[in-house]
Amino acid sequence: MENAKNESSRRHFLRKLGYGAALAGLAPVTAATASTETSKDKTMAEKKLGWAIVGLGKFATQQIIPSFPNCKKSKLVALVSGSPEKARKIADENGVDPKNIYNYQNFDDVKNNPEVDVVYIILPNSMHTEYTIRASKAGKHVMSEKPMATSVEDCEKMIDACKKAGKKLMIAYRAQYEPFNLKSIEMIKSGKIGKLRFLTSDHGRLLKPEQPEDKWRADKQMAGGGSLMDIGIYSLNAMRYLTSEEPVEINAMIHSDPNDPRFKEVEETVAFQLRFPSGVLANCSSSYGYEGVKRFQAFGSKGSLILDPSTDYYEHNLELKLEDGTKKEKIQEGNQFAAEIDHLSECIMENKTPKTPGEEGLRDVKYMMAIYEAAKKGKPVKV
Ligand code: NAD
Repeated sequence: MENAKNESSRRHFLRKLGYGAALAGLAPVTAATASTETSKDKTMAEKKLGWAIVGLGKFATQQIIPSFPNCKKSKLVALVSGSPEKARKIADENGVDPKNIYNYQNFDDVKNNPEVDVVYIILPNSMHTEYTIRASKAGKHVMSEKPMATSVEDCEKMIDACKKAGKKLMIAYRAQYEPFNLKSIEMIKSGKIGKLRFLTSDHGRLLKPEQPEDKWRADKQMAGGGSLMDIGIYSLNAMRYLTSEEPVEINAMIHSDPNDPRFKEVEETVAFQLRFPSGVLANCSSSYGYEGVKRFQAFGSKGSLILDPSTDYYEHNLELKLEDGTKKEKIQEGNQFAAEIDHLSECIMENKTPKTPGEEGLRDVKYMMAIYEAAKKGKPVKV
C-alpha cells in the first residue's frame, strides 16, 4: 500500500518536473537517456563522479537509485548487496557493470576500483560506522544515511577514520538540500515573520515490524533507539537549521505502550523541548504510534510560517501567515536526493567541506542522547 503510494507520488513528482523519459520507464532511465546524449552532455557526463550504493533496501531502491539520472555531477557505478540476484537485477536496470557488484565480504576490494569515488551507506543505523570506516580505508569518500550512528563514540570513529584517510564524510540530511526547507530558512533569516520566538515540529509513522525495513527498526541494537533516532531526528535537525543555533538545554518525556510487543526494545513516542541561546524555544515530538505527520511551524513577532509536510519525498506545502492573511508560497519542487548527492560530488571536485559533514551528524546524536537522558532523569539537561 505504502509502496504504491510512494510510486504514484514519485510519478506525479517526475511528471511535474517534466521528466518524461524517466516516466517512460521509471527505474531503467540510464540506458535510454544515454543514447540520446549530445556531445556536450557527454563532456558533462565525463565530469560525473562514480558512486557505489551499499545496501539495496527500501530507501536505496525506491528513492536514491532512481534519482541518479537527475544528478549532474554523479553517476551510479557500483552496488553492494548480500543478495547477488537482487544486485544483478538492479545493475541491469540501471546500467551498472556487473563486474562492479560487491557483497558485504568482498566490499573492501572496492579499493582497487578506480570507477568508484564515493560510497553511499544505506544500511541499518548500527552498521553505518563499520562501513564508513571500511570505505574510507578503501580510499573512498563517504555519504552515510541518518542517524549517523547509534552512539557518540561511533560518530567520532567515523569522523576520525575519514580524516585519517583524507576523505570527505557527509551525512544525508536531505531536508537541508530541499527547496521548501531552504525557502523556510531564508524567510526566517530575512525577518519575514519578525523576530523568531517559538518553533514546533512533529514526525510520526507507524512501526510495522512485519515489513523487512521495520524489522531492524524494532531492534535496539540495530536501530539505536526508536522513533527519535528514526524520525525525531528530522524534528531536531529542523529546529537547528531554522534557528541557525545550537540548543543549550533539553527536556523530554517518553512513553511506550507496555502491552505493545513492538515497543519491547525501542521507544514509541517522544516529546522534547529545546532552549536556544537567543531565547527561542522549541517543542518537538516523534512517534511510531501514528501515521503521516511530518511538519514544522515557526512563530515570529510578525507572523508564522508552516511547512506541512516538511520532510516528504516529493510534495511540500509552505504557508506564510501574516497580518494581511495567509499566503501559500509557490516554489518549484526539486529532487532533494539528486541535490544532496551532487552536493557531495561538488565538494569533492572543488575540495570544499560538505554543508552537512560528519560533525553535523555527531551533534544530533549528542542531542538525542541528551533527550534520552532528560527523559530518564525526569528533568532538563544542559548541553
Ligand atoms: P531497509 O531495511 O529497507 O534496507 C536496509 C538494507 O540493509 C537492506 O537491503 C538489507 O538487506 C541490508 N542489510 C545488510 N545487513 C543487514 C542486517 N544485518 N540486518 C538488516 N538489514 C541488513 O531499510 P531502509 O528503510 O532502506 O533504511 C536504511 C537506512 O536509510 C537507515 O539508516 C535509515 O535511517 C535510512 N533512511 C533514510 C531516509 C531518508 O529520508 N533520508 C529514509 C528511509 C531510510
